[in-house]
Amino acid sequence: MTTCTTCPYCGVGCGVLATADGAVGAEIKGDPNHPANFGRLCSKGSALGETISLDGRLLQPRIGGEDVGWDTAIGAVATAFSDAIRDHGPDSVAIYGSGQLLTEDYYVANKFMKGFVGSANIDTNSRLCMASTVAGHKRAFGSDTVPGTYEDLEEADLVVLVGSNLAWCHPVLYQRLAAAKAARPDMRIINIDPRRTATSDLVDLHLALAPGTDVTLFNGLLTAIMERGATNTAYVADHIDGLAEAVRTAQTSDLSDTGLDMREIAAFFDLWIGTKKVVTVFSQGVNQSAAGVDKVNAIINCHLATGRIGRPGMGPFSVTGQPNAMGGREVGGLSNMLACHLSLEDADHRAAVQAHWASPAIASKPGLKAVDLFRACANGRIKALWVMSTNPAVSMPDADAVRDAIRSVPFVAISDMFGDTDTAKLAQVLLPAAGWGEKSGTVTNSDRTISRQRSFIPAPGAARPDWRIISDVATAMGWAEAFAYERPADIFREHAALSGIAADLGVDFDISGLTGLTDDEYDTLAPVRWPVSAGRRGGRFFAEGGFFTSNKRGKMIAVEARMLAAPITPARPFRLNTGRVRDHWHTMTRTARAARLSQHIAEPYVEMHADDAAKAGLCPAVLARVTTDHGEAVLRVMISGRLRRGEVFVPMHWTARFASAGRIGAAIPGVVDPISGQPELKGAVCAIQPLQPRWYGFALGHGPLPEALPTDYWALATTKTGWRAELAAHTDPEDWSDLAQEICGGRGDPITLLDAARGIVRIAFVEDGVVTGALFTAREPVALGRAHAVEIFDAEPDVNTLLAGVPRTGQTDPGATICACFSIGVNTITSAIFEQGLVSVDEVGAALSAGTNCGSCRPELESLLRATRDRDPAPIAAE
Ligand code: SF4
Repeated sequence: MTTCTTCPYCGVGCGVLATADGAVGAEIKGDPNHPANFGRLCSKGSALGETISLDGRLLQPRIGGEDVGWDTAIGAVATAFSDAIRDHGPDSVAIYGSGQLLTEDYYVANKFMKGFVGSANIDTNSRLCMASTVAGHKRAFGSDTVPGTYEDLEEADLVVLVGSNLAWCHPVLYQRLAAAKAARPDMRIINIDPRRTATSDLVDLHLALAPGTDVTLFNGLLTAIMERGATNTAYVADHIDGLAEAVRTAQTSDLSDTGLDMREIAAFFDLWIGTKKVVTVFSQGVNQSAAGVDKVNAIINCHLATGRIGRPGMGPFSVTGQPNAMGGREVGGLSNMLACHLSLEDADHRAAVQAHWASPAIASKPGLKAVDLFRACANGRIKALWVMSTNPAVSMPDADAVRDAIRSVPFVAISDMFGDTDTAKLAQVLLPAAGWGEKSGTVTNSDRTISRQRSFIPAPGAARPDWRIISDVATAMGWAEAFAYERPADIFREHAALSGIAADLGVDFDISGLTGLTDDEYDTLAPVRWPVSAGRRGGRFFAEGGFFTSNKRGKMIAVEARMLAAPITPARPFRLNTGRVRDHWHTMTRTARAARLSQHIAEPYVEMHADDAAKAGLCPAVLARVTTDHGEAVLRVMISGRLRRGEVFVPMHWTARFASAGRIGAAIPGVVDPISGQPELKGAVCAIQPLQPRWYGFALGHGPLPEALPTDYWALATTKTGWRAELAAHTDPEDWSDLAQEICGGRGDPITLLDAARGIVRIAFVEDGVVTGALFTAREPVALGRAHAVEIFDAEPDVNTLLAGVPRTGQTDPGATICACFSIGVNTITSAIFEQGLVSVDEVGAALSAGTNCGSCRPELESLLRATRDRDPAPIAAE
């Protein structure tokens, strides 16, 4: 049976058709009827069926490493929370949740903490994702309202992407945009990002501005709008306050701070001002900043001044990182919000929520935001902590300190699908949570569309949905009546009813029209964009004013440009940017289980400009130590022409489970935006030095990923039959065969090739004619086609072919994977481009199938084509 559900990764919120295969996988297709994707899926969504195995799953509650029953585990959490509240007050307990939670889970968690515990100490990893947008929206609109829709990106004549690598981070939205541009070649796209990314290959103009100067650039735009008389005077007069002061402040910004050529800036201003239908899309490059809220308002100011908001093809548009960041915002998932966009600081709002919940208490002040929450753990204020479906020991800034802080809390419970995350290892109590495909509820995507996630396989072992775990704890603490939910629909109806009350109090979020859904209607609920009330369904906001401020007028905010918090110094000469790669999601707890998602980029890396690498004594593919005042990471060096000199990029995904020293969060200081509390994850300063190991290595093994490897450096990735690992060590072993056996778990006889002169060792173990493991080492980074080696190892090769490390006559090394869907590597594609004279992505697709399924690799195919034509920087994929 095929089930309509929703992808659990990014904020695009694509509809998925899932058909369980009866074993531990599922066939996955895009839902052609879902308004977010119309059948498209990216590489991550397409591989969802490969990530639902039981590998690493937590199947039973555990206390102190021992399996226990649910009653015992629930009792332990309830007792720890009750004791802490009794002895130290409600603010001594905390929950740290996740944008992975479904809206129903999120709602119940917030009700539990804010209405029954009586503390707002519940924050979420959405604080790391879009808290600055929430605050910016509220300052400008009086509410956290996304004014527009995805269709606006397609209907615009100009789309400006700010701090957004849409091609990799919101791939289906990128595909929609690319299709719109292909259909209307006059459409213009501008990309504002210090880095040239896969997204930049689509655009007409890439502005590689200096990091942190977005406010300066948009203040310059606002000034130009004013100087050229391009304000919409009628709209401003009728609906907007603050224009004069915003412009006055904007005029103090110095555009030379952006580091951009003035002609580029002029081209941007001309296009923006001269194009009525303009959408400005912004994402983590804007949000994850100590000036994130000001950046959001600098963008919104330009749209308010011109009245370009809430009309087809016009408006500021935030794309969220998390699958249910928006749902979390709707239920008050952040520690400074109440459910249904109501305000914690407003006594009438608090009274309305408390009455709806019939709760004994209601939090009356904002709780601790994420960074402060873990600092409170470290300084002993938090006595009991419950982490739900997230991995803060990796994803938070100052991650080592966060890890130590969690470890220091007297009682820590984790509810998660997996018991082997970096954070789960710190908990006394592990609560097995149902995961994607097993649980049911709703999520809201970046354009306010609420979609159902539906279960299509049973939860394994004793795993339960989060809403039920929370309700069970609440019941054990004496609040059974308020948490007597039998199914997610019960929670949804309660939430929808509260939204009607909220709307009566003047709030934007209103799904009261769904309050009366029957269980069957909830089960079959089609995607629907809020608001959904008696008088309104979906649509856009603010074209005719109607803001949610006290005087119903939108507000332009005077925002001053500020420099990044950490200055470049001789000891820390590089600006450290962080972000995502195409085929991994967050801390890899799910995507790292899929072999095809692990081949595109199989190791954490630091990307940098060739001139910087040369100055630092670094060559391509060596290992480097990236050091900040807070911590360090050891990473593979990737040299490209995509970064400005003095800036480096490191992906944020790798954890201690997959790499010995790849947790870049450990090196990021906990500097936050003063309003939103969102950490600055893209503005640290660092030093980079060569690691200079005695030897480098590459290993292949069958079976499950090892816990760790006995070398100074290692990075693991999943393959079809097992795993691959990059290695390095500072000393030679006494016996290479013993070390090889220990690393790859090879069974049978070792077959060894030694080239003492070049320090090359190659060892494979053969049992009954089958190669069971292999190790390749060299004094330099091992020169070996990884994709080729993995391919022949998986195919039970002739050992001599494997150890030779080069393709035999008639074989080819496919090179680093570009197309994950069809496992097509860069060498295969480049050869085809040359030999067959291919000139377009569609021709590459016709020749090789690359890019014809999910389409996530199409920007890289375009880049490869361009590289062969123009000798542009190489595509981003790395082995
Ligand atoms: Fe999932 Fe990809 Fe769609 Fe995002 S773009 S929701 S990751 S399929």
